[in-house]
Amino acid sequence: MKDIIAQEIKKVYDELSPAIESFTSRVCPECSEPCCRQRFGIYEREDILFLKTLGYEINDADDRLGPEERCQFLSNRGCTRPRWQRPYRCTWFFCAGLLEAMEADSPAGYRRVVDLLNKIKQLRMELLGLK
Ligand code: SF4
Ligand code: SF4
Repeated sequence: MKDIIAQEIKKVYDELSPAIESFTSRVCPECSEPCCRQRFGIYEREDILFLKTLGYEINDADDRLGPEERCQFLSNRGCTRPRWQRPYRCTWFFCAGLLEAMEADSPAGYRRVVDLLNKIKQLRMELLGLK
């Protein structure tokens, strides 16, 4: 059962990722201080459970790097980890500027992102046995 839920979460991530990137691709390249820090790239126990259920080999962030250093997975073209392989917190973070742009540029696109985020949240609670 857990593997079915985990597959469903991955499917929603695959749908969500281009929806978020339609905004971040316009806003983030102009950013003077990208939010991706090494400490955000480190998995939590719940992330590891999800990824292991999918049979993913865990490749965690290098803990020899300082927590406030630029995340080792950040490239000039954004995060090198597919979204479903990122820590959960990475997908939930939207800075104020990005949120403003999302709401102003496409209210429908923004609502779709919120709906898909909530779907992942619900499924994740099921996976963790919290629902
Ligand atoms: S989400 Fe905000 S803070 Fe992070 S890189 Fe994009 S614009 Fe910068
Ligand atoms: S989105 Fe990617 S680059 Fe940014 S903190 Fe998360 S793992 Fe690192």
